Amino acid sequence: MSYEKVVRGTVVTPEASIPGGWIAIDGETIREIGEGKPPAALEVHDFGQSWIVPGGIDAQTHAGSYWGLAGLEPTSRAAVCGGITTMVEMPFDNPIPLSTMELFHAKVKAIENLSYCDVALYGTCAPHQDTDEMYRLAEAGVCAFKISVCESHPVRFPRIPADQQLAMLQACAELGLPLGIHNEDQEIVRYNTQRMRETGKEGLAVHSACRPEAAELAATALFLELAAVTGAQAHIVHISTPRGFELLDGYRKGGHKTTGEICVHYLLFDPESDGEKLGALIKVNPPIRPGVREALWDQIRNDRVQCISSDHSTMSRENKLGGSIFDAGPGVPGIESLMPAFFTGVEAHEMDAPAAVARFMSEKPAKLFGLWPKKGAIAVGADADLAVLQPGRFIYDSSKAHDDVNWSPFDGMTFTAKVASTFVRGRQVWNGADVIGQKDLGQFVPRQQSPS
Ligand SMILES: [Zn+2]
Repeated sequence: MSYEKVVRGTVVTPEASIPGGWIAIDGETIREIGEGKPPAALEVHDFGQSWIVPGGIDAQTHAGSYWGLAGLEPTSRAAVCGGITTMVEMPFDNPIPLSTMELFHAKVKAIENLSYCDVALYGTCAPHQDTDEMYRLAEAGVCAFKISVCESHPVRFPRIPADQQLAMLQACAELGLPLGIHNEDQEIVRYNTQRMRETGKEGLAVHSACRPEAAELAATALFLELAAVTGAQAHIVHISTPRGFELLDGYRKGGHKTTGEICVHYLLFDPESDGEKLGALIKVNPPIRPGVREALWDQIRNDRVQCISSDHSTMSRENKLGGSIFDAGPGVPGIESLMPAFFTGVEAHEMDAPAAVARFMSEKPAKLFGLWPKKGAIAVGADADLAVLQPGRFIYDSSKAHDDVNWSPFDGMTFTAKVASTFVRGRQVWNGADVIGQKDLGQFVPRQQSPS
C-alpha cells in the first residue's frame, strides 16, 4: 500500500516533537504519523531539520474591513505565505458587517471563489438588532460572535451598549458560542480624546493618552460580569495589559468561561523604544502600552493566553502617515509575519518555540472556535494543514509581502524562522518562493462543536 503524499521533517504534535518524523497524507487528511523510514508514497516532501507545525489559525483577521469581500483574496494569499491555513474572519466588512444570513451567504461564496486558505467566520449584530438572526447564523456554522463597545464607525464598527451586550450574551450562552469583544469604554475614550485634542499635542503618546488602560479595563470588567451572569463564554480579543489577564483569571477561578487573546504586536513592540521610529505605524486600539511586554510574555509562559492573532488590517500606509495622529487609521497588517514574529519572540524568551506556535496558534484557537479536532493539530484524522518552519536569520521585508498592502511595522526585524512551505488540506500552496495554490481552494469551515 502506498500513500499519496509523505511530508518529512521534525514533526510537532501536541504530545512531542519528532525529529526525523513523517506525516502520511491521503487526499485532504493525515492518515499516519511516525519516525524513521517513512512508508511508500507517490510524492515525498523532505524538509530535513525544519519543523513541521500544524497550519496556523489566525484568530483575528480583518480581510474585508476596507476592500469589502474582495480583500479575502490578497489577505488569504499572504496568509498561506505566512503558514496560516485558517483565517478566523472578523465580521466588520465594508460596507455592512456580517449580521444577516444574506451577508453570511455572500461571504461564504466569496471565500469559495477568492480564498487561498480555509476561513471560519465571526458574526455580529447591528445596533438594536434582536438576537433572532444569531440563532440562524449559529446553525449555519459561524464560530463565534463579536462586538465592539466603542464606536469607530456608526455602521461598520458600531458601539453595542450594555443592554444589547447582555441580550447577545444570553443568546451565546444558549448557543454555546463565544462572544468576542473589542474592549474599550467609549465615554472614557471620547472624553480623553477631546481633552488631548485641546492640548494641540501630537505623537503616539497622545494616542495612548486618548485611550488609557482604564478605558480597556472598565469595558473588560463590565463585559466579564455580564457574561458571568448569563453563563456565556466571554472572549476578549485584545488584551494589552497584564491587569486584563488578572481580571480574566479571577473570573475563571470563580468557574466562569473567559478567554483572552493577544495580538503579536503587543508582545513585540514598546512605544517607549519603538514609538519614535514607527509613530502612527504602530497606532492600534487598544494602544500598545509602555513597559508591559515582559509581563505579557509571562502570560504566555503561564498559559493564561488562549490565542495569538495578527488583527491583520488591509489599511494603506498613506492612511497611517502624513496627517495628525488623531486622523491616522488604527491597525496594522501582519498575517504574513505573524507566525515567524511569534516564533522569534518565543525563542528570545527561551521557551520551546515550535511547541508554542503549535499550541497558541493552532490547538488553542481551534478549541475556542470549535474547529478541533478537524483543525488545530498534526494528528491522525485531522485535515493535513501544515506549515514548515525553517530555522535561520531572516530580515522581514514587506515590499515582498503578498497582502497588496506592502508595509509593515515589522520591516527590518530579524526573525529566527521563515515559512518554507504551507499545505492546506494536503495541497502544497506555498513553496517558500511562490504561491502555488489557487484562490478557489479555500473553504468555509463551520464550527464543529461547542467549547469545552
Ligand atoms: Zn481586530
